[in-house]
Amino acid sequence: MSEDELYDVIILGGGPAGLTAGIYAMRAALKTVLIEKGLPGGQVAITKDVENYPGFIEIGGFELCEKFLQHAKHYNLEIVDKEAVKTAPGIDFHSVHLVDGTVLRSQVVILAAGGTAHKLNIPGEEANFGKGVSYCATCDGFFFRGQTVAVIGGGDTALEDALYLAKITRKVYLIHRRDAFRGSRILQQRVFAEPLIEIVYNTVATEIQSNDKGVCGLSLKDTITGAERSIDTDGVFIFVGFRPNNQIVPAGIKMNTSGYVITDEKCETTIPGIFAVGDLRQKYANQIVLAAADGCTAALAAAHYIETHQGS
Ligand code: NAP
Repeated sequence: MSEDELYDVIILGGGPAGLTAGIYAMRAALKTVLIEKGLPGGQVAITKDVENYPGFIEIGGFELCEKFLQHAKHYNLEIVDKEAVKTAPGIDFHSVHLVDGTVLRSQVVILAAGGTAHKLNIPGEEANFGKGVSYCATCDGFFFRGQTVAVIGGGDTALEDALYLAKITRKVYLIHRRDAFRGSRILQQRVFAEPLIEIVYNTVATEIQSNDKGVCGLSLKDTITGAERSIDTDGVFIFVGFRPNNQIVPAGIKMNTSGYVITDEKCETTIPGIFAVGDLRQKYANQIVLAAADGCTAALAAAHYIETHQGS
C-alpha cells in the first residue's frame, strides 16, 4: 500500500460484511484493500458460539471469523491494520484518510464499520460476556432453552427479544428503569399478554452474579424506593440501545434518525460509488448471514459501477 496506488475498491471494516465484500471484489479481479483497525471479524469474533450461520450447526464466533479471513486471504485480499479517520467523496475518485496521514484513493468505497451495542457498565457484565451475558437474542437465545433469563431495556429491541425469548425459555424477567416502555404499543400489548414474561418496572440492574458455570443471578435496585434485591437467572440480555459506527460516513450520505445509512437495493448510498453494508446499513435485521449478503451485493454492484464508469 502506498499513497500513489489507486484502488478500484477500498473496504472500511473487516467483519463478515467487509470480508465478504473483499472475497467477491478479489474474485471480480478488482484491486482492493480492506482497512481494519482491530482484529478482523467485528462483533462476531467476540461471540462465543454461532448456531445460525448456514453450513455450520455450531461454530465459535472467532473460528467463523478465521474462516472468513482465510477465505479472503486465499484470494490475496490486501488487509491494512490501520484506522481510517475520514472518507472524502470525489467526482472520479473517493479518498480515504488513515490515522497516520496516508490518503488512499479509489473508485468505490464500501463502508462496513458495523455497530456497537450499548453497555450497562456494571460489575460482572464484561467478565460474563459469552457466559450468560448477551446482546443478541436471536444469536444466543437457543442456549437458554428451558431456563430463566433477564432482559434489560424498554425499547422495541427489548420488547421484541423478550417475546422471542419467552418462546424458548421457562421465564423472562423484563427489567426497565421507568414505569412505561419506550417500545411500540403493539409490542407492549404482546408483552402484557405473555404469561412467561414478568415485568419489573422502576428497576435497574446493579451487578451480574456468576459462579464457575457462568451467570447465576442479577442484583437489582428499585429506582423509587432504593430497595435492593437479587433474582436467580441463567442469562442476562442487555438491550439498552445500539449505535451504528457511522463516524466515518461522509456528510451528504443520507442516514435515518437512528444513524443507520440508507441505501438502495445494491447497498449504494446517496453518493455514487460509496456503498454501506452490514450493521451500519438500515435494514430489517442484523445477522451474520445478512452482513455477508450485503458484502456480496455491494462488491457485485461495485464491479458493475467500475465497468460502467471506466473512461467516463
Ligand atoms: P432504544 O429505543 O434507544 O431503547 C433503549 C432502551 O434502553 C430504553 O427503554 C431506555 O430506557 C433503556 N436504557 C438506555 N440506557 C439504559 C441504562 N443505562 N440502564 C437501563 N436502561 C437503559 O433502543 P432499541 O430498543 O435498541 O431500538 C433502537 C431503534 O431501533 C429504535 O428506533 C427502535 O424503534 C428500532 N427498532 C425497531 C424494531 C421494530 O420496529 N420491530 C425492533 C427493534 C428496534 P428509557 O426508555 O428510560 O430511555
